[in-house]
Amino acid sequence: MKGIYMDNNATTPVHPEVMEAMLPFFSEHFGNPSSIHWAGREVKKGIETARESVASFLNCDPKEIIFTAGGSESDNLAIKGVCEALKDKGNHIITTRVEHPAVLHTCEYMEKQGFQVTYLPVDMDGMINLEDLKNAITDKTILITIMFANNETGTIFPISEIGKIAKERKITFHTDAVQAAGKILLDVNALNVDLLTISAHKLYGPKGVGVLYVRKGAKMKPMIHGGGQERNRRAGTENVTGIVGMGKACEIAMRDMDAEGERLLRLRERLHKGLTQKIEHVKLNGHPSMRLNNTLNVSFEYVEGESLLLNLDMDGVAASSGSACSSGSLEPSHVLTAMGLPHEVAHGSVRFSLGRSNTEADIDKIIEIMPPVVARLRAMSPLYGKSLNPSVERTTAVCQH
Ligand SMILES: *Cc1c(COP(=O)(O)O)cnc(C)c1O
Repeated sequence: MKGIYMDNNATTPVHPEVMEAMLPFFSEHFGNPSSIHWAGREVKKGIETARESVASFLNCDPKEIIFTAGGSESDNLAIKGVCEALKDKGNHIITTRVEHPAVLHTCEYMEKQGFQVTYLPVDMDGMINLEDLKNAITDKTILITIMFANNETGTIFPISEIGKIAKERKITFHTDAVQAAGKILLDVNALNVDLLTISAHKLYGPKGVGVLYVRKGAKMKPMIHGGGQERNRRAGTENVTGIVGMGKACEIAMRDMDAEGERLLRLRERLHKGLTQKIEHVKLNGHPSMRLNNTLNVSFEYVEGESLLLNLDMDGVAASSGSACSSGSLEPSHVLTAMGLPHEVAHGSVRFSLGRSNTEADIDKIIEIMPPVVARLRAMSPLYGKSLNPSVERTTAVCQH
């Protein structure tokens, strides 16, 4: 059985052209890029070519690119590195309640180090209010870190406007653009950002490699000390194959983004329409229009998302839910909770995140298999107002992480 993969916001498969570009760097091109001999030089060239590809993807200077071990490391470096560099100027950070854990938990860590953090709220669509941002700024604010697009709902924040506000107040602005990369045009100048995070594996590149863009002149201390790699900003012998893969992934994203984005939007709308037509009480989570083309997060009321996922998995469909396992209990997503969803509705959420492999046939298959699954689970739900049907075995939710 060929499965249907609809969890592209969690990770994507490596594109064949990316793999092809990486392969020689596992074997023939094996030198240490810091070595001055021929073996090192050709590998160095591979890294610098990749750096140029990433720089043109972000419309910046290659010198402003730092390769890291992924989105989480880039977010950590941005927040800790800027705070360390600017701690004499102030101790206040502004972020949102719906950030990825790589930002959220790093900000919580900074609070333990004596920094103060404002977590901006979001509305029912998962959108922030720019007035809240302006009101949160103080003389002590040294960093604003706000994601570009939310990984759970796909809601897109007005990064360019946020950047303008930060610029006027001379505050360093970082954005986690991991989910936006390859889906929305990333031009660091148009966006008014000082630092920007991307990750290769969300972009049809390999896992374990990321980029932090740091604008020339922006103050940031390194986190990993050692050799002089990455212009003294990130020590350690480079993940050469990963970096080469990241470069190729950016090239492909630039080439294919427009056409693929339109295709995915059509498929996503077909899925949304099909599900709402065939199933009652389906609620969209996320902004109706300011949203990533590939992301559909919906709550099936009176159903547990985890149970739905298990049933979908039995039919070969991979998606994810708005619950995360923490210490054995199912906690509803912090994103959906911040949007004001009651716990039981948050628990009934499923995220379909579409990608290159998906076809219209995939969408139609899901539209076909979902209604009976939801009906069966609702029949067992006391909240749905029906008596328990003993002929149906209850599927219990389990942690999937
Ligand atoms: C996946 C993701 C990250 C983390 O990236 P890794 O490369 O997996 O460490 C950070 N932010 C967002 C929004 C993400 O979706």
